Amino acid sequence: MQEKGSISIHTENIFPVIKKFLYSDNEIFLRELVSNAVDASQKIKRLSSLGQFQGELGDLVVDVKFDAEAKTITISDRGIGMTAEEIKKYINQIAFSGATEFMEKFKEANDANEIIGRFGLGFYSAFMVADRVEIDSLSFQDGAVAAHWTCDGSTSYEISEGTRTTRGTDVILHVNEESLEFLAEARLGEILNKYARFLPIPVRFGTKTTTEPDGEDEEGKPKSKSVEVDNFINNTNPAWTKAPSELKDEDYLAFYRELYPYSMDEPLFWIHLNVDYPFNLTGILYFPKVKTEMEIQRNKIQLYSRQVFITEEVKDIVPEFLMLLQGVIDSPDIPLNVSRSFLQADSNVKKINNYITKKVADKLNEIFKADRKSFEAKWDDISLFIKYGMLSDEKFAEKANDFCLLKNAKGESYTFKEYYEKVKDLQVDKDGNIVYLYTNDLAQQDGFISAVTAKGYDILVLDGQLDTHFAAYVEQKGGEKIQAKRVDADVVDKLIPKDEKTELQLSEEEVTKTSGIFDKAIARADMKVEVEALDADALPVSVTIDEFMRRMKDMAKTGGGMGFYGTIPDQYKVTVNGNHPLVKRILESGEEEGSQLAKQAFDLALLSRGLLTGADLTAFVKRSVELI
Ligand code: ADP
Repeated sequence: MQEKGSISIHTENIFPVIKKFLYSDNEIFLRELVSNAVDASQKIKRLSSLGQFQGELGDLVVDVKFDAEAKTITISDRGIGMTAEEIKKYINQIAFSGATEFMEKFKEANDANEIIGRFGLGFYSAFMVADRVEIDSLSFQDGAVAAHWTCDGSTSYEISEGTRTTRGTDVILHVNEESLEFLAEARLGEILNKYARFLPIPVRFGTKTTTEPDGEDEEGKPKSKSVEVDNFINNTNPAWTKAPSELKDEDYLAFYRELYPYSMDEPLFWIHLNVDYPFNLTGILYFPKVKTEMEIQRNKIQLYSRQVFITEEVKDIVPEFLMLLQGVIDSPDIPLNVSRSFLQADSNVKKINNYITKKVADKLNEIFKADRKSFEAKWDDISLFIKYGMLSDEKFAEKANDFCLLKNAKGESYTFKEYYEKVKDLQVDKDGNIVYLYTNDLAQQDGFISAVTAKGYDILVLDGQLDTHFAAYVEQKGGEKIQAKRVDADVVDKLIPKDEKTELQLSEEEVTKTSGIFDKAIARADMKVEVEALDADALPVSVTIDEFMRRMKDMAKTGGGMGFYGTIPDQYKVTVNGNHPLVKRILESGEEEGSQLAKQAFDLALLSRGLLTGADLTAFVKRSVELI
């Protein structure tokens, strides 16, 4: 029996096109063929367990072999096999329609990347690397006859009786001249390690040498010898496919090391995902220690579909703020062969995204409730995720408001509610606003901090990358009538203005004169002088920067808020304490001396907040030396 046929399609030769465009990603042929072999093996297993196949299952192993001389790669399985009729149906018609559909999509795609590396090419991806492909197959069905199919990538094929005597399929690729790189152990091994690492049926790739015990030598010491053993590529039972109840902490940590063998750190904790309705998804997400921004994107989340590795591009499926997580997501319900814009609109993808967000929030809440101490200890490592999540995702924020922590300068941690209770009585201003004071730099703002602490006020540390935005968030969501002010936003009495007024010891005329002297001595457009009535023992001069303007500028810098603020120069307020004895002295001095004193006091204020630099600093040091 020999039969020649022609695959019915409209486009004559699509393979040269496929070959050309997929060249950079042509290694996926192996993923496609090995997963077909795995599918066929799982099918026979299922038929056997259903009683529809009574024969011996045998060793369900998928073998990948190559012959550099003959220039062939062979993928063999002991799966259900195919009859000649089935080859015609599944390979010539179905597989081919897949390839044609692929080509149709490719024509519409603006960007080859939209399709490259995605599913949907199936069996015909073999022609990306082969001039000719043969199938040798024996179906599991009683009385089946072995079938042999060969095709050179054009639309014609030959089918005849085959030689295979055991159930299953061999797919033999006659590798083309441009793809000879694949006829090497290292290259094939690398591809298998990437895509086949966690396939559910054992995949064997040749043999490897290991050592095993070999009795004892004359002195009674144990001896070992080298032996050749089968080289199995995969762990067929990765942790994420098991029930969470079967797994202990050690198992999760061991799987983490298996996924990222080069990682130096252990994850902080993990979440086991497991849903089957309304979509199918399993996986384990790990929270890593995030030390630097650079480190973040090294060990990415890996996306699998039924244990076949697909990609590390999990954008859209995982909410953006969780892109910093690590681990595995496995879902057959994620459409992998469509373009990005379609993916974003896909309802399954949206649901998956929401589900992951909810699971992460619930897990964090659970840890917070069960073991607050350990949650606090991990806070510095996870606060970036959490704050990012709260700022970008309302649903997550709703939940996170209960466990998000505020840390103060003493290193104590409070929830939003707790902190509100802590400061609401003392840090209330004359209009009933509760003022949260914060620093973004303990060292540089030390002068302000000690003034604030002397009043008994508490200081939050908000020194993270997102904390300018986060301060605004806390104002809105942290409790009623909250205002957040950085400690250097004003002199201490004005940060939380109270009703009781300190009397100013200067006449109106003296105030005008003082302003004039300081204006002239400072001579800077970005410094606005104001004379105020402060305690006599407060500093004579302070330089502060308005909270609102500063925050808008900070936000513009980190890409949020309104961009134009970034272009406005800093505007500082110079508060002269009209009740300080120095002011009296300046007023009583001659013009020259008064100006010198004013300048010196102003420079000290700049110095205390790290703003005195360059030539101004040099002049200050010189003047100070002369004074002493
Ligand atoms: P897909 O796997 O997405 O269905 P393919 O083009 O890869 O598309 O394969 C087409 C069909 O050919 C498969 O659905 C299967 O029925 C059949 N097939 C392919 N490889 C094998 C194999 N090794 N053993 C049995 N059947 C196979």
